[in-house]
Amino acid sequence: MATTLTAAPERAMLIGGEWVAGVDGIWTDVVSPGRRGTVLAQVPEGSAEDADRAVRAARAAFPAWRALHFKDRQKILLQIADALEEHAEELAQLTAADTGNALRTQARPESQTLVTLFRYFGGVAGEFKGTVLPAGDDQLQYTRREPLGVVAGILPWNSPLMIAGMKTPAALAAGNTLVLKTAEDAPLTILRMAEICSQFLPPGVLNVITGRGPVVGEALLVHPDVDKVSFTGSTGVGRHVAQTAGQRLAHVSLELGGKSPNIVFPDAASAENIEATAAGVLLAMRFTRQGQSCTAGSRLFVHADVYDTFLAALVEKVSALKVGDPLDEASDMGSIINQKQYESVLGYIESGKAQPGVDVALDGTTQDFSGLDGYYTGPTILGSVANDWRIAQEEIFGPVLVAIPWRDRDEVIAMANDSHYGLGAYIWSNNLTDALDTAHRVESGWVQVNQGGGQVIGQSYGGYKSSGIGREFSIEGALESFTQIKQINVKLG
Ligand code: NAD
Repeated sequence: MATTLTAAPERAMLIGGEWVAGVDGIWTDVVSPGRRGTVLAQVPEGSAEDADRAVRAARAAFPAWRALHFKDRQKILLQIADALEEHAEELAQLTAADTGNALRTQARPESQTLVTLFRYFGGVAGEFKGTVLPAGDDQLQYTRREPLGVVAGILPWNSPLMIAGMKTPAALAAGNTLVLKTAEDAPLTILRMAEICSQFLPPGVLNVITGRGPVVGEALLVHPDVDKVSFTGSTGVGRHVAQTAGQRLAHVSLELGGKSPNIVFPDAASAENIEATAAGVLLAMRFTRQGQSCTAGSRLFVHADVYDTFLAALVEKVSALKVGDPLDEASDMGSIINQKQYESVLGYIESGKAQPGVDVALDGTTQDFSGLDGYYTGPTILGSVANDWRIAQEEIFGPVLVAIPWRDRDEVIAMANDSHYGLGAYIWSNNLTDALDTAHRVESGWVQVNQGGGQVIGQSYGGYKSSGIGREFSIEGALESFTQIKQINVKLG
């Protein structure tokens, strides 16, 4: 059990440009998942009244913010990008402590992505524009892209800075004001990000509230003055968000869970390619994020002819990952976020190991972490899995990869699509027909061929099926997600 250290600082919420406690005066410990004895800080346990205060502050700031010339918003977002860059290492260290994500492999790239996102959306701020119809000399017919108003951004804990970066600069560039609701388990980097932003933004343009989802999050869903809910989190909560905010016809976009396929064709496991493919699958599975990624390629389909050799090469690579303290430069993988998630991951591993015929290719639960005080487990690979087992169908959100052999392209595409998720997909082949036929037929919003890295700034990103609705990441996606079109027809002369 974590003990509250009296030295743990209080980190207040940002409402209307002021740093405030919750109206109820309750503070909650934020415990570092990689060092369970360390209380990093205390944050307010926000209430519905706090959510209302934040929405009212955002509403009050909206008219002046939307009225600015785009160059003024652009200038501010670019200043923020520079300031975030100056503090990138501090943000990376804080996110490693806050989330348990390893500093070198995950936290540093994440804080850099945040900077790039502010720079990107600051740069394209002038693109939130309308069109003019050539309707004859006696008519002026044009559209304006107008901001929606107050956007509520609800964040998950797994990569808070990156997800906040996917929402904040785009929403602000378009002229909206924002209320961010941090995840219970990882509020600190978002509060620090807001502190940096608030040096440049007028009061109320960006507000950040902390607290529990069913309380402050729910209050944002039902608030009549929230024009859009931009939600990233689990499919279960996402469904509730869609119902509740949809009930009052608020705009909603949802970035939800996944169970993405990695599909390895025989040529990708040839002597010359096997090394690169194994490294790519390791990356795509997001092992270095403890598998706690919505886009983790957590179902590995390997052609039966190369199944044994490929699995052996992958196991060799994955077993070399060093699991350790997130703030240790030597760590490739850090800690799972909390006790509940840790137990859930171990439960999935146990259920997989109990299946008849399963091949435990790598068992991360046998690693010894007695020198560490956190939620640590090594990477696990379970082979000879059937696609209808629980471990192949449900999002584990942990470092657990299931491997499934296949023989025929139609068969593997059918198996890949036999999932209610449809977020990412990774295809490994140099044969154009195999690669592109599969890429076109797989039911996923984002497909990569022969690479397994993360989202590229400016690309379209979002889910098919139960993995979500909406695209916010690209400029086109941001136009659709953070503005509404007004048509104006003028008779001239
Ligand atoms: P979660 O759904 O439990 O929580 C997400 C957020 O919703 C938190 O801030 C939580 O407090 C809030 N919330 C909970 N109940 C609420 C309610 N009734 N009303 C309003 N808000 C409420 O998800 P999590 O455990 O924080 O994150 C992990 C999940 O997020 C995984 O399923 C993962 O795949 C998904 N995710 C998706 C993406 C993506 O881009 N598609 C990115 C990251 C994470």
